[in-house]
Amino acid sequence: MSLANGRPYLATPGPSVMPDRVLNAMHRAAPNIYEGALMEMTASLWPDLKAVAGTQHNATIYIGNGHAAWEAANANVFRRGDTALVLATGRFGHGWAENARQLGVKVTVTDFGNAAPIDLARVETALRAEPNARAVLATHVDTASSARNDVAALRKLMDDLGHPGLLMVDCIASLGCDEFHMDAWGVDVVVAASQKGLMTPPGLGLVFFSDKARQAAKSSDLRTPYWDWEPRADANHFYMHFYGTAPTHHLFGLREALTMIHEEGLENVWRRHARLAGAVWAAGEVWGQGGAFALNIKSPACRGHAVTAMRLSNGDGTRLRRWCEHEGGVTLGVGLGMAEPGTPAADDFFRLAHMGHVNAHMTLGALAVMDAGMKALGIPHGAGALEAATRAISQG
Ligand SMILES: *Cc1c(COP(=O)(O)O)cnc(C)c1O
Repeated sequence: MSLANGRPYLATPGPSVMPDRVLNAMHRAAPNIYEGALMEMTASLWPDLKAVAGTQHNATIYIGNGHAAWEAANANVFRRGDTALVLATGRFGHGWAENARQLGVKVTVTDFGNAAPIDLARVETALRAEPNARAVLATHVDTASSARNDVAALRKLMDDLGHPGLLMVDCIASLGCDEFHMDAWGVDVVVAASQKGLMTPPGLGLVFFSDKARQAAKSSDLRTPYWDWEPRADANHFYMHFYGTAPTHHLFGLREALTMIHEEGLENVWRRHARLAGAVWAAGEVWGQGGAFALNIKSPACRGHAVTAMRLSNGDGTRLRRWCEHEGGVTLGVGLGMAEPGTPAADDFFRLAHMGHVNAHMTLGALAVMDAGMKALGIPHGAGALEAATRAISQG
């Protein structure tokens, strides 16, 4: 007997749940890629994508995942031998740094560990040590640690120090989940992807860039024809947006997802994520009162609203994850970058996503299955977590 035989719920931090509306929008015959409806539909994506990122500048779509967006941004901005200052607050910061390093960029990483956001005092030291760094790379919400960084404060620090570098931010986890304002916060390059807050299958990498970044990129010597953002941003012919055949069905899916975000209102989307995250944190605080359970990021102000990283002990994280999937129909995310993969400690860590197409019954349901799993497996935990979560949902 398994209690998992209803509709499965993939609660991993990417790919996220795809709305039926998005799936249905993709379920159609192949469109003409040379003229007609596809062109008009695609033209309507650019202003709506820019609105979600909070920019009036440039947007490009690459056929690729988040790693592709990382590489696109790096290849356009850097010259061989340039310095990149990377601020790492979890696994994904290191991943972007590694991509730059392999392209021939001199990378200086300031590592804030696995459980804390950026510390501006240390950033100041790093900026002073590299006054000519071409760019600062930061992650808005690191999906591994679930730390959220104050991007506006980072920009202000760069401005106060007169640092000329571009500010590049990985919003792959956070776009469409956490409040973000690219232009108002002085961000030059934003990378994102389709499969998280944008509720569309994996396959589209997004890069937004300011006119300042566009100007600076003219001297890049790392870009190759496919990654060059210039013809994509100002395509004279439709195929140039994608340097070849358009990702037709992904575009129809993304169109529907953006319409859904528009119908709800972007600020309401952010508020919904904040409220659901609050329910997860409320449950987590109570679970932690009676056992090894702990939320990875201590300060609520520094937690992302799209995903929550958590831990147990003695390998109970993996046991709980398996129970939730096989007995509860909810798939939690594995821990990433918290312990050496394959070591016993790696089995302590796991994550619950609450990004994109999620509502109260999904998040409360996932929490209830986790609570049941801890009881079934005899994992000690504080009592009353679900009561705390429902109070957080009802009161905000
Ligand atoms: C998911 C994610 C990535 C990687 O995206 P892929 O599509 O797996 O390449 C990078 N950065 C962050 C913050 C992410 O959440």
